[in-house]
Amino acid sequence: MRAVVIHAPKDLRIDDYPDVAPRPGEVRIKIANGGICGSDLHYYHHGGFGTVRIQQPMALGHEIAGVVDMVDGVDHLKPGTRVAVNPSKPCGQCLHCREGMRNQCLDMRFLGSAMRFPHVQGGFREFITVDATQAVPIADELSLAEAAVAEPLAVCLHAGKQAGPLLGKRVLITGCGPIGALMILVARFGGAAEIVVTDVADAPLAVAKKLGATHAINVATNATALDPWRAGKGVFDTLFEASGNQAALRTALDVLRPGATLVQLGLGGEMTLPINSIVAKELQLRGTFRFDSEFELAVRLMGEGLIDVKPLITATMPFENAVAAFELASDRARSMKVQLTF
Ligand code: ZN
Repeated sequence: MRAVVIHAPKDLRIDDYPDVAPRPGEVRIKIANGGICGSDLHYYHHGGFGTVRIQQPMALGHEIAGVVDMVDGVDHLKPGTRVAVNPSKPCGQCLHCREGMRNQCLDMRFLGSAMRFPHVQGGFREFITVDATQAVPIADELSLAEAAVAEPLAVCLHAGKQAGPLLGKRVLITGCGPIGALMILVARFGGAAEIVVTDVADAPLAVAKKLGATHAINVATNATALDPWRAGKGVFDTLFEASGNQAALRTALDVLRPGATLVQLGLGGEMTLPINSIVAKELQLRGTFRFDSEFELAVRLMGEGLIDVKPLITATMPFENAVAAFELASDRARSMKVQLTF
């Protein structure tokens, strides 16, 4: 079989790749769709992010869905079962797993991640063999393209939980890449009364409107557009910061009401914050990292038609054209979520 393998920055190849037969408790899946994520793009452009660097060739990809084609000692999945693949495989044994925070596992194996060595190979390949617990069956109505959005949607559902109840709340989302866009869907599902989205590019803001944002504001070309929400000490109850941009976060602090909750999703590396604002307005600053049971929830909500991710998928290309697909995915003026087909 073949896989999309990163060798070095800007050196992405279609390589022959070893096929692995399932062992007891495992299933082999014929991959259909794989979404290109921001972290895949970091590996492609820079060879990694933060302190994480590729040290050996690694198949990319962790937003994948496909069809089971072989099982070993697994009863609930059969060849032909359509599944979303959960890229997360916590150990189940460590302190944090036992405390119910499996996303904080000390021995996490996450598909397509160079955080550990040898790297955990990713899912941009024709077949993948995973633990049966990682293969989550999808509804008949759900396409495999939508199923491949389960992972980033799970990230956003987890972030939504960090914010607490959203019913009737005024929500601000800064940054409208795929994660900011999916936060719109989660905020709507959570019952937010008003959802304002900011970005510095027009194309993603047009998608934001389609997804149900109340207001979509380009803060690069319209710096005063947030002024109505500055009234008094600020009016937003909740901020989802999905840009990783310090300027976006600082601006948002002025429009949050006292006691508001700020959930930081964007990984911007080092950021400087005016602690005065956080202290004086009694803001609640929360982190959020990956997901756990939200993966199954994402699959279920999409399957029941309660969350529709289709407007996010802006292009679908065969994996043989991976380099062109990665370049397209890097251009925010032309794409939101780009998927490969296998
Ligand atoms: Zn663990």
